[in-house]
Amino acid sequence: MSTQNPKKGKVVIISGPSGVGKSTVCRELVRQIDAFLSVSATTRPRSENEVDGKDYRFISEAEFQKRIETGDFLEYAEVFGNLYGTPREDVRQALAQDKTVILEIDVQGALIVKNSYPDALMIFILPPSQADLAGRMAGRGRGEDGKTARRRLDSASVEIASAWQYYDYMVINADVKQAVEEIKKIIKENTGAKE
Ligand code: ADP
Ligand code: 5GP
Repeated sequence: MSTQNPKKGKVVIISGPSGVGKSTVCRELVRQIDAFLSVSATTRPRSENEVDGKDYRFISEAEFQKRIETGDFLEYAEVFGNLYGTPREDVRQALAQDKTVILEIDVQGALIVKNSYPDALMIFILPPSQADLAGRMAGRGRGEDGKTARRRLDSASVEIASAWQYYDYMVINADVKQAVEEIKKIIKENTGAKE
């Protein structure tokens, strides 16, 4: 069956360095447009301000491995030592209902999804500066140690460099409202999604 059927919903991939504001922007986006925001499974420990089933489905490594074996994930990847995966069935169902499906995933996962859904729209979110990114990571209240925070910051440069190669649009998140407006416009132009 073709995944290019124009009557079916479209996959919109949103990536960007850790702390750039992806979750903030995606949450606001789905408040404003008729879209389904996929909830990933992860083996990362839940931080205080996160809600299981809303931000992520926080599962054990054993459960994650079981779900890999049963083919539950459309894609999965290891990011900063933890596993993250997109539930395949959720995406399939939303697309069958003609919904725009938002996947907030990393670059590795994005490239796998692009293989299954070649018409997926790829949007990469950039910080206004490296200092802003460092400040947002620190202000997020994850309680990470300095080493983990530095690792995330270092990998941001690599991710941003590779993004130019693969992504259709780069959006700077200086102001949440403005970034959301820009993404809404991009989605509308590419899918005709309803507001
Ligand atoms: P990500 O999902 O990319 O890791 P988050 O959405 O968790 O990032 O945002 C990281 C932090 O940055 C949060 O504290 C959030 O409130 C803040 N933030 C997001 N967008 C902006 C912005 N445009 N200006 C200032 N702070 C922002
Ligand atoms: P965080 O731990 O900061 O929430 O997310 C870390 C990274 O994992 C981010 O780049 C985020 O986009 C990515 N991520 C979240 N969910 C998924 C997923 O289901 N698949 C993949 N490949 N990456 C994900």
